[in-house]
Amino acid sequence: MTLVELQEWVAQAGEKSFRATQAFEWVYGKGVHSFDAMSNMGKELREKFKASFAFPVLKLLKTLHSEDGETIKFLWELLDGKLVESVLIMSRDRRTVCISCQVGCPARCAFCASGKEGLLRNLTVAEIVEQVLHIDRFLKEKGERVCHLVFMGMGEPMENYDAVVKSIQIFNAPEAFHISQRRITVSTVGVVEGIRKLADEELKVNLVLSLHAPNQHIRKKIIPYARRYPLEEVLDAMEEYSCKTHRDITYEYTLIAGINDQIDHAKELARLLQQKQCTVNLIPYNPVLNLNLSRPSKERIETFRAILEEADITTTWRYTKGKDIAAACGQLALQKADTLI
Ligand code: SAH
Repeated sequence: MTLVELQEWVAQAGEKSFRATQAFEWVYGKGVHSFDAMSNMGKELREKFKASFAFPVLKLLKTLHSEDGETIKFLWELLDGKLVESVLIMSRDRRTVCISCQVGCPARCAFCASGKEGLLRNLTVAEIVEQVLHIDRFLKEKGERVCHLVFMGMGEPMENYDAVVKSIQIFNAPEAFHISQRRITVSTVGVVEGIRKLADEELKVNLVLSLHAPNQHIRKKIIPYARRYPLEEVLDAMEEYSCKTHRDITYEYTLIAGINDQIDHAKELARLLQQKQCTVNLIPYNPVLNLNLSRPSKERIETFRAILEEADITTTWRYTKGKDIAAACGQLALQKADTLI
């Protein structure tokens, strides 16, 4: 629940609204997850809470640490036995959590592990928020805290829109995580009505588009959703988002050898994005079990990047962090289902 919702609940239970703030302080500030530990609340109120709420909803099954020590992957089991994952990325003083919002994914992009089995179900707000709550608690033991969030784990945020928006409100709330909207990023495969709707929310989070192709033809081949949402419409919706929220746009481009990494593709991409105020984030494809795709060479990626830079398009790229722990979207949950159990 958001604070406002909990305040309403508390009022209906015949209690003062500050009790909601107190509960938030216990859960988010002190990291407590037992109502009995909420010592400034009377027994009667604690029993009311217990009768209506339960946590935790995630059980930690496994953590995997990358060799460079910068990435930790968390594999969670939900109450119904389904699996999701989050990734903690630690670069310099930044602590970023990559969050999942669905079990599986309806988008079924050709290169992505999350969609291989389609969508199993949406995550609840609690299941989304708890990923960050647990990882924040883990960091607090080291005197650190989560400061950036990206919705780039399993799932398509626009297809679980309400839960994602509500969880963002909780991440943003001063009484909860107090993570600024500027530090929260939502990544979408390009669901036009979702992008337009998000533009009209009070939220001003960063929005990233998974572009992955310089034209509709190639995009359609690797992103089934492109059939429903043509490239031009998606780009227009992103522009509208940028205008309304004053946020720059980032386009993600997963480079896959022979599919979208050719010199002509780079030139076409440069033309497509020419007049736009944007950054292109180049992501070398991270191998997924049983997918017959490969990562381009470092030289090929450098050439691709140079062409964009020559056209004055800002690019970022790095050799994917956490390759040795299968940190690309959905990989661990899929492996776990396939081989680890
Ligand atoms: N559904 C949303 C968010 C999840 S995917 C979206 O499509 O944006 C987030 C990012 O994970 C994608 O942009 C893609 O770049 C990346 N990704 C997924 N599988 C990958 C893989 N095998 N290798 C490299 N990046 C991958």
